[in-house]
This record gives sequence, C-alpha cells and structure tokens, in this order.
Amino acid sequence: MENRQGLILVNTGNGKGKTTAALGLGVRAWGQGFKVLVVQFIKGNWKYGELKTAESLGPNFVIRQMGEGFVRNAKDDDKEAHRLVAKEALQEARQELLSEKWDMIILDEINYAIKFGILSLEAVLELLEAKPDAVHLVLTGRDARPEIIDKADLVTEMKEIKHPYKKGIKAQKGIEF
Ligand code: ATP
Ligand code: MG
Repeated sequence: MENRQGLILVNTGNGKGKTTAALGLGVRAWGQGFKVLVVQFIKGNWKYGELKTAESLGPNFVIRQMGEGFVRNAKDDDKEAHRLVAKEALQEARQELLSEKWDMIILDEINYAIKFGILSLEAVLELLEAKPDAVHLVLTGRDARPEIIDKADLVTEMKEIKHPYKKGIKAQKGIEF
C-alpha cells in the first residue's frame, strides 16, 4: 500500500443515499485499483443490483451479505438468532480488516444493527480502534451513535427533503435495489 491515511467515514441520517453513496465510493476506489469489501449487516429481500455489479467488477469488489433475512421487522424472539449472525459478521469483518487484504471496507447498515440491538456499540468501537492506518473504513446506517461519530474523520448526514414513498410510489428498480 502507498503511504495512505486511511479514514473512518460515516454515512448516516434519515434521507436516502447512505448505502448508495458508500457503494459509489467503493466504485471510485475500485477504479483506483483498490480492493473493496462490502459487508452487509442487514439483508433486505430485494435482488440488489449491486450484487451483479460486484460480480462483474471481479475479485477486487466483493459484497458479502451477513444478515439473517430482513431483520428490520423482526420480533424480539427472533433477535437472538440475529445477534449471533451479526456477531459472527463483525468477527469476520475484523479478521478481514486486520488481514490488510482490503484497501476499503464498507460496513453497510452497521449503525442500524447497533440501533436494532443486535450488535454492541462496544464491539464496533473496538473494531474502529483496531483499524490499520492504511485502510479506509466506511460505516452506514441511520442513527449513528455519537461515540462512533466521535471516532470518525468524515461524517455525512443524509437529510430527507422529499421521498417518493410519501407519495405512495413503490421502490423502483435501479434506484432502491
Ligand atoms: P439507499 O440504499 O437507497 O442508499 P439508504 O441506505 O440511505 O438507502 P436505508 O436506511 O438503508 O437507506 O433504507 C433502505 C431503504 O429505505 C432504501 O430502499 C431507501 O430508499 C428507503 N429509504 C431511505 N430513506 C427513506 C426515507 N426517508 N423515507 C422512505 N424510505 C426511505
Ligand atoms: Mg442503507
């Protein structure tokens, strides 16, 4: 790796664009020859276009989906299973981070996983402490905890001005998934 200052970046807020902006960064970095790993902590039930994108970008742009189905609406008794999976995902993310195989790692929806109560804030803060200097680490998800914002170098809050959901327009291919 060149002499690089690896940053901690956070995309948070209620407006749309946190994950898409992180993927955009990943694509930019890939174009610079970086190896990019995306770990998705919460899996939706859509066929996300970016999974196909990653396939065609090859081994330097990898997306791993870790979530147990769509946990946004999980009941309390499902949460224990989600906790286990999220914990394993974080452990794997940590291993990948420390391996220095990757120039950029995107932890998608990790803030939401904390908020939802399936990942502990402490474990994530510990991961941030362990970040090798040269790796760029991106964390997405609404309601980023102040402790995480405090550790970050770059924080962007997406603010909703308008969203088509409010007009009853359903999720659009290529925009939402
Ligand atoms: P995207 O993946 O499109 O960049 P996001 O990562 O900012 O969105 P999430 O919190 O991950 O947003 O929400 C996932 C889904 O919820 C997306 O399909 C997104 O369009 C939708 N969404 C995001 N913000 C809003 C909003 N303010 N109102 C309604 N739906 C939203
Ligand atoms: Mg998202």
